[in-house]
Amino acid sequence: MGLNDTPAGERLTIGFFGRRNAGKSSVVNAVTGQDLAVVSAVRGTTTDPVRKAMELLPLGPVLIIDTPGIDDDGALGELRVRKTRQILRQTAVAVLVVDATLGLTAPDEELLAIFRDQNIPYLIGYNKADLLGENSPRDGKPRDHEARDHEIFPAARSDALFISATTGENIDALKKRLAALVPAPEIKLRLIGDLLNGGDFVVLVTPIDASAPRGRLILPQQQTIRDILESDATAIVVKEFELRDTLAHLGKKPRFVITDSQVFAKVAADVPPDVPLTSFSILFARYKGDLRQAVAGAAAAENLRDGDAVLIAEGCTHHRQCDDIGTVKLPRWLKNYTRRDLRFTFTAGGEFPDDLSPFKLVAHCGACMLNAREMQYRRRLAAAQHVPLTNYGVLIAYLQGILPRCVESLELRVKS
Ligand code: SF4
Repeated sequence: MGLNDTPAGERLTIGFFGRRNAGKSSVVNAVTGQDLAVVSAVRGTTTDPVRKAMELLPLGPVLIIDTPGIDDDGALGELRVRKTRQILRQTAVAVLVVDATLGLTAPDEELLAIFRDQNIPYLIGYNKADLLGENSPRDGKPRDHEARDHEIFPAARSDALFISATTGENIDALKKRLAALVPAPEIKLRLIGDLLNGGDFVVLVTPIDASAPRGRLILPQQQTIRDILESDATAIVVKEFELRDTLAHLGKKPRFVITDSQVFAKVAADVPPDVPLTSFSILFARYKGDLRQAVAGAAAAENLRDGDAVLIAEGCTHHRQCDDIGTVKLPRWLKNYTRRDLRFTFTAGGEFPDDLSPFKLVAHCGACMLNAREMQYRRRLAAAQHVPLTNYGVLIAYLQGILPRCVESLELRVKS
């Protein structure tokens, strides 16, 4: 992510799907105006989803996902269906790219069924329209007398458009139709801004130790600062060792102290009891998830037994931004608290098991890289399978006995 970029978790996600050799990657490139995917005449060149964050007018900041081409040989196959569903969990709008010279095939119909099943708004782009004869249907309006075309393009579908990645035909129209399909914006959630007034002071505690990334703050910290500034409040950023002195000289009680969860114990001791305290990760549990579910999930630590499995899930795809908190510190703290011999499984990025039944607890990171749709899926999956799901910050606060204080500051009351 560049310095000026909207985080991936905040972007509208558009997924492109289709059979191998339907020209899907070429359509993605025509729509984005960039060489986004590897395009080749050899079928199935795109083997992994390719993601690209970009500005796409008239939509604004979007995340484009170019998915691997589906098989030509009939059924999609279990693995591809699973992969497709995984990508669709993050997708706000889908585009099915169909080879117009062949028309809709069984795998295309299967994809359409999945879109409908998951309530994903979609468009069908009949690509290679330049290869169709003069009398072939265009613009989704087949002519009545063309029986063959009727068979290939069932009805004059309002969800279909004839396009050509080669000539650029109707590519702009496709973008405009995509913009029209975007679901109406939901109520804009805020990380902390809804609890602030102009002129408030908020003190942020960010340790800068060997494990912090070089030369920058991590995304949850950046997004919190931005939200504070949007509320016309003042963000004061300190390391944990300067906190006590800063509070003493501030001249005004801060509206909040927000800390990195790793230094919760020290910060909780240094912040006077009448100053609301919480953590970046807890703010994200509220923003991307369901704080009540996360609080209830943390209490499952009491029920853990020897040999129980705990899933630690992180949203980063490649290298973790939150360093070793999930893989090293959290397992250690959980083992120390429970005094149990626990087994840990770790997942990252888009990976998240469909079957959570082997786990007695799921601890999720703040998910700043994942969009709200994906987090909603994960939360609902855990709830449906009766597996407690919590969040790093909530769990750490629970293990340190300060959870009620840290969520009451966010106007959520819990039993001590
Ligand atoms: S581990 Fe989670 S909270 Fe941390 S940066 Fe990655 S997605 Fe964001």
